[in-house]
Amino acid sequence: MLFPTTLAGSLPKPGWLSETQKLWPQWRLQGPALEEGKDDATLLWLKEQEDAGIDIATDGEQSRQHFVHGFLEFVEGIDFEHKVEMGIRNDRYKAMVPVVVGPLKLRGRVHEREAALLRAHARGKIKITMPGPMTIIDTLADRHYGDKVKLAMAFADLLNQEARALQAQGVDVIQFDEPAFNVYMDDVRTWGIEALHRCIEGLTCKTAVHICYGYGIKANLDWKATLGSEWRQYEAIFPALAASRIDQISLECANAKVPMDLMALLKGKEIMVGVIDVASDVVETPEQVADTIGRALQFVARDKLMPCTNCGMAPMARETAQAKLKALVEGARIARQRYA
Ligand code: ZN
Repeated sequence: MLFPTTLAGSLPKPGWLSETQKLWPQWRLQGPALEEGKDDATLLWLKEQEDAGIDIATDGEQSRQHFVHGFLEFVEGIDFEHKVEMGIRNDRYKAMVPVVVGPLKLRGRVHEREAALLRAHARGKIKITMPGPMTIIDTLADRHYGDKVKLAMAFADLLNQEARALQAQGVDVIQFDEPAFNVYMDDVRTWGIEALHRCIEGLTCKTAVHICYGYGIKANLDWKATLGSEWRQYEAIFPALAASRIDQISLECANAKVPMDLMALLKGKEIMVGVIDVASDVVETPEQVADTIGRALQFVARDKLMPCTNCGMAPMARETAQAKLKALVEGARIARQRYA
């Protein structure tokens, strides 16, 4: 089928599970009730995705408080008790971050529960997302490795360990989120791709990377305002991504200032084309979605185009996200007829 639909990853959490419309929501449940709540929310969103007609469903990241820290919580060698303030994304904003204090090791499985639930209940393909090594090391301080590349490779090995286990559970697509890729363009070429390759070593399932200009939070909106009328950062990294062994690239195209012709630099890759703006509560019409697909088709081969959201929908209102899922699927349906 042409234009299979999927999501960048996250979906809003229900109000009974956690605070809503926040990037760092506090859980409303504890202990076994929290675990049960996470399971229920995962199943609920699987049902919503399948009813909407999404072809490759995700767990909606219902089990994690935050897309990076949801992974770090399972890693030994990190001190969460004594956080330090650090400028992240090249000092775009300050955050209190945990500190690496010893050799890194996984404490056990990270996403086993979500993957098992999805596999047992999904009718179609499933995807699990994890933060990429460059984004992880940009979100914590280091007092042990003393070298950012060494630190990134140590995380890549842990991500690979979890990715192999997810593949064994029957996960169809494993995606790494690398919003840091448009901040440290030189690093992408010198070691970022190599770190991703370490993440996917031994995998035969589909592999993906999501790059983006971030959620619609104020620090990001202020930063985007400085980037000018055309965002050409990707021009520096697309050739390296095109030459990589990653199968799929996810990027934003709806209401974005990324020139669409840059996607031509990713020739040969499957492109998850963002046709849903996650920084706006205005729900796209199916026609608008189909139009964005049409414009992308000038630069992406028909059999390589996957309509997707621009980014995660975690901080969005639940009803808005539901409406946007439907618009995404309807738009793809129109595009299949229009561009058959
Ligand atoms: Zn994103």
